[in-house]
Amino acid sequence: MDESQRRAWPWLGTGPLWTMRSARAPVGEAAEPGGDSRGQGVASADWESLRREVSSCERCSLCATRTQTVFGVGSEHARCLVIGEAPGAEEDRRGEPFVGRAGELLDLMLGAIGHDRQRDVFIANVLKCRPPGNRDPAAEEVARCQPFLARQVELIAPAVIVALGRFAAQSLLATDASIASLRGRAQSCRIGEREIPVVVTYHPAYLLRNPLDKAKAWRDLCLVAGMLHAAPAEQ
Ligand code: URA
Repeated sequence: MDESQRRAWPWLGTGPLWTMRSARAPVGEAAEPGGDSRGQGVASADWESLRREVSSCERCSLCATRTQTVFGVGSEHARCLVIGEAPGAEEDRRGEPFVGRAGELLDLMLGAIGHDRQRDVFIANVLKCRPPGNRDPAAEEVARCQPFLARQVELIAPAVIVALGRFAAQSLLATDASIASLRGRAQSCRIGEREIPVVVTYHPAYLLRNPLDKAKAWRDLCLVAGMLHAAPAEQ
């Protein structure tokens, strides 16, 4: 996003500038405990070392119960980064995000704006490991996992982030605000050196239970499509 676009945001009714939840987390202890085993911090990792770091991560107790980590899927050059909550049972088994029923709906939602999960977007989660019993992620787990997501965001440098559901939105934007109050317009999140537009929408698992809200999710997706269309291609 260049300066002229950023100045135009208030005219578009965009939200305030948020920072990721980790910035407020107990950073000294949690967010980036000094780098990986070979002395290269996650904050400067390339894709290969980041994948390696994630797959061997033991930063929180979820490593004891996972089958495998779920790094993410899609194009490393995607202009759109889709962020969910955490792997579920099927994702933990297959090592790919959103492969259950919610994933099928997510693929349809992306398809509705002409996007394919492998080609046009990158899909990741706030947590890379499954919380047992699909419980809500704990604050400490989020804080420990946050450097991985932050580095994914930096490496992809997407034009737009789509936050799926309350948990992803609240973690990314470091807020307790409701989905209803966050969706419908672009928010802006500072991650590292970058300010990135964030569109908050309903989690596909929620939409499976509440199909009437698909109309609102469609409006959010149209907002995403419009922003991608408007954003300079080199972003
Ligand atoms: N729900 C999520 O938030 N992420 C997944 O990967 C699967 C279901």
